[in-house]
Amino acid sequence: MRYIRPSSLEDAVGLLAEASGKAAILAGGSDLLVRMKGGFIEPDLIIDIKAIDALGRITESDDCFVIGAAVPCAVLGENTALRHAWPGVVEGAKLIGSKQVQGRCTIVGNLCNASPAADSVPALVAAGAKAVIKGPAGSRTIAVEMVPVAPGKTSLAPGEIIEAILLDKRPPHSGDAYQRFTPRTEMDIAVVSAAVNLTLDDQGVVEKARVALGAAAPTVLLVEEAANILIGSRVDDSTLERLAEVCSGACRPIDDKRGTVEFRKKVAGVLAKRVALTAYQRAGQK
Ligand SMILES: Cc1cc2nc3c(=O)[nH]c(=O)nc-3n(C[C@H](O)[C@H](O)[C@H](O)COP(=O)(O)OP(=O)(O)OC[C@H]3O[C@@H](n4cnc5c(N)ncnc54)[C@H](O)[C@@H]3O)c2cc1C
Repeated sequence: MRYIRPSSLEDAVGLLAEASGKAAILAGGSDLLVRMKGGFIEPDLIIDIKAIDALGRITESDDCFVIGAAVPCAVLGENTALRHAWPGVVEGAKLIGSKQVQGRCTIVGNLCNASPAADSVPALVAAGAKAVIKGPAGSRTIAVEMVPVAPGKTSLAPGEIIEAILLDKRPPHSGDAYQRFTPRTEMDIAVVSAAVNLTLDDQGVVEKARVALGAAAPTVLLVEEAANILIGSRVDDSTLERLAEVCSGACRPIDDKRGTVEFRKKVAGVLAKRVALTAYQRAGQK
């Protein structure tokens, strides 16, 4: 097995495109190394992207935040502007593993691992985040929800690397939130999770909304019907009841020892109500 630590994205893409055997990108390694240790994959080439300076930064343009693919999740929480604009995205990233894991792991690794229970993905999907992808044929930008296509599988073509995640700057009166259910308080994987992102008008009425559910289907669900219930409301009790009903109904979860289908559906509705209320309160404070 070869291990290479390129210093430019172009070199990383070139190495990946020219690799003859199995090649893998290593960001934080908190999924990749576990899978290698478990004997699930045995790459011939590992391309470590942590030494590519441009991928290790969060930058701001007039209209968006650009989060490099090698930025550790812990750093997201240290960025005041990002934390203020997208508290739900940051709370998803900061639920991953432990402090030690967060010092290494990335939201792009979380996305590309393509687990339906990935903690940072529902809030990114609710936020309308985009992934900038670089490959042998050039660059393209797609919605984050287009990256995972099935558990453990992505839509990335051979030789493609995600360079960054783009998050829009927020209009006033906007808020988001993420919560998951786990039997333990830490170091556990979501049994089900929910994220809501919304923007209010000057009267406190929801103008725009996006609702996403995690661990509720093979990939994160963007529930448009749920967003439509929030739009035009002040997130009152009857709106929340209808939101819960639609979210529970949208779930297609697995049935296992960590949660039955019935339990996951019910909790998806409960979490959707809670995060909608938190997002609404956050939006009202801005
Ligand atoms: C103890 C422990 C606890 C954990 N707890 C949680 C948890 O609570 N919630 C949760 O969601 N996850 C959890 N995880 C899983 C893991 O930490 C996360 O999924 C993490 O975000 C992965 O990021 P990474 O940078 O370490 O990815 P890596 O392991 O480096 O990569 C993961 C996958 O993505 C690919 N990849 C990485 N970067 C790119 C890129 N730029 N372009 C293309 N492909 C890329 C890799 O090739 C690999 O297939 C836990 C893991 C451990 C070990």
